[in-house]
Amino acid sequence: MSVGPTRTCAGCGRKAPQPELLRFRAEAGELVPGAGAGRSVYTCRRLACFERARSSRAFNRTLRRTVRVDPALSRLYTDPANG
Ligand SMILES: [Zn+2]
Repeated sequence: MSVGPTRTCAGCGRKAPQPELLRFRAEAGELVPGAGAGRSVYTCRRLACFERARSSRAFNRTLRRTVRVDPALSRLYTDPANG
């Protein structure tokens, strides 16, 4: 019955249960996936949300620092529809 914590996608703004989202954090000025200490930022598991968060600098805003976003992170997203 219990609903887990919800988090907000940095791309589309959708609120979703944390397990539905991908988690990132900042490490040495880079956006890195996974859990860890410090602030974290979430996106839906849709590539469109990653791209939107990247282009709108939502990762920087949410993490409150400037992070480099490696485009290769897009491989974390399985997007079968692909447009
Ligand atoms: Zn989203």
